[in-house]
Amino acid sequence: MIKVLRARKYGFCSGVRNATLRVKKFAATKKSGAILGQLVHNERVVEEMEQLGIKTVEKLSDVKEPYVIFSAHGVPPSFYEKAKESGVEVIDATCKFVLDIHKESRKALERGEHLVFIGDPRHREVIGYTYDLGPECHHIIQNIEQAKAVDWKRYRAVRIFYQTTLNADEFEEVANYISRENPSTHKADTICYATKKNQLAAKELAANDEVDLIFVIGGKMSANTRHLYDICTHLKPTRLIHGVEDIREQWLEGVRCVGLTAGASTPDEVVDEVEEFLKEIKT
Ligand code: SF4
Repeated sequence: MIKVLRARKYGFCSGVRNATLRVKKFAATKKSGAILGQLVHNERVVEEMEQLGIKTVEKLSDVKEPYVIFSAHGVPPSFYEKAKESGVEVIDATCKFVLDIHKESRKALERGEHLVFIGDPRHREVIGYTYDLGPECHHIIQNIEQAKAVDWKRYRAVRIFYQTTLNADEFEEVANYISRENPSTHKADTICYATKKNQLAAKELAANDEVDLIFVIGGKMSANTRHLYDICTHLKPTRLIHGVEDIREQWLEGVRCVGLTAGASTPDEVVDEVEEFLKEIKT
């Protein structure tokens, strides 16, 4: 039997739990609604929502139902007005940590600070922060090369925000570079507590001598799952899987102990299924 060790902290965060609960409550009313973008980046959760009769659409203009659900990642502030104009009622499942960044960035802008979002420009959360902003008042930075291409000295003050699910260590160099170039730079610590705890626990798990192989369980589109994978892969052979269906038995040859961790949008039962599967394997 393969031994399984779970990370001390993994999986669903409060933002994802709240969002799924809101949608389930809405589904129970039997009203017709659509979710804008994946509610959370996990295919299993999206399927579950579809089974509840709530489909996922990519654009606000695709919503033909009387209700639209804004996902945990949030939306550009103008979308609330747009939904109202088209007579669509909003059910807002945006995570409170994401809403805090919207609020703080708005205040920084009012103070005349230049905004920097460290993150992925294609990620819904980052699109939410930046879609309504003119190019003159913000930058989205993904790496040190992009940071070096900007003259930061020309701004009176700079405020850095991080996409909530980043691995802060990876971007320290970027934030430090901007701070050196412009001493009036303030870094807002916006990486969310759930992300930090999951990352720390994943690092501990991967550093455990007993563990031969790590499975990081989560959705293809989930940024925080990808960061857990990056953290673990530095220390141990690591596989990123959606669930038990992705496991190849040859990966387990000679493996005595598997470590498990999961992204913030991975339902607990998916982790349970993987553990049960591994425990049934004869070695
Ligand atoms: S990972 Fe953090 S910011 Fe993202 S939904 Fe969960 S609690 Fe909110």
